[in-house]
Amino acid sequence: MILDLDPNLSDAQVEELCERLKRMKFTPVRQSGNRVALVQGVGKQVRKEAFLELSGVRKVSNLEQKFKLASREFHPQPTVIECKGKKIGGGQLFAIAGPCSIESKEQIFDCAKAAAASGAFALRGGAFKPRTSPYEFQGMGEEGLKLLRDAGEAYQLITVSEVMEPAQVGLAAGYVDILQVGSRNMQNFSLLKELGKVKNPILLKRGFSATYQDLLMAAEYILAHGNPNVILCERGIRTFETYTRNTLDLNAVCALRELTHLPIVVDPSHGTGIRSFVEPMSLAAVAAGADGLIIEIHPNPDRSLSDAQQTISFEAFAKIMHMAGLIRNALKNACESMIN
Ligand code: PEP
Ligand code: MN
Repeated sequence: MILDLDPNLSDAQVEELCERLKRMKFTPVRQSGNRVALVQGVGKQVRKEAFLELSGVRKVSNLEQKFKLASREFHPQPTVIECKGKKIGGGQLFAIAGPCSIESKEQIFDCAKAAAASGAFALRGGAFKPRTSPYEFQGMGEEGLKLLRDAGEAYQLITVSEVMEPAQVGLAAGYVDILQVGSRNMQNFSLLKELGKVKNPILLKRGFSATYQDLLMAAEYILAHGNPNVILCERGIRTFETYTRNTLDLNAVCALRELTHLPIVVDPSHGTGIRSFVEPMSLAAVAAGADGLIIEIHPNPDRSLSDAQQTISFEAFAKIMHMAGLIRNALKNACESMIN
């Protein structure tokens, strides 16, 4: 349910109304512009008219979608997340680049230098790795997080790293700017609740068998637990096709754009699993209107300790960034010429 309040109410009056709603056992979530969403308790019956009787309430509408705070119905304007002076959503391409796993100081610093030189805003690197086999490299853990932080600071890059369980959240939040939830943990609800308690933006990757609604309900967990800064990531889904590692679902960009106000990033590395596909699918994602890209790069891609087959060189990344810029400008100019 959405309550649209009298626009002349002061902050204090809106807060007072929220307190009253809490006493009525609702969970009000305030939105700019004197709008309040009521996240209902399970099984609680709500009569719209009852809210209209509260002073200051102008209009009451139902939120049709199962996801509430993530919906466009509740929040019509796109969300723009600010992180270290950079914006995620709302215009510029937010490019994240770095190795699948942090392997050494030299490797992560080389990646940071290349990412920054090509115009990326953020440096990725896994320290806790979800590997299919327990015998494969599991990541450097806290030591890796320290290296990532140092490399990010050296090149003024925002840092991104994955957390796999609630116990890692506090630790990682101390070192890293954006916390990533991997595909395999999209519905790890205790992890999502824990991420609701931190201030860091969360990069939430789509589970490889998750629908858009599943993804948005996962985002809703983080939002409902107090963290409004969620970035959605399309990273490919499992289909009957076996030629590629996953099928990069670019429909997701259009569908999510309609359903939600949250920024949308595309991961063509995991989405294809094939090095030569990363450039064309990055450009396709940009053309489809993605807010950002997350791409795996390495000083020597073939020697990556994880995901070597989809990891690209620094030169290949520089080329993608250059071409992505041209495509965005071409689209902008084409749109403007249609208007004029
Ligand atoms: C990763 O980003 O390296 C990763 C493991 O991603 P995903 O969860 O999308 O497989
Ligand atoms: Mn990877």
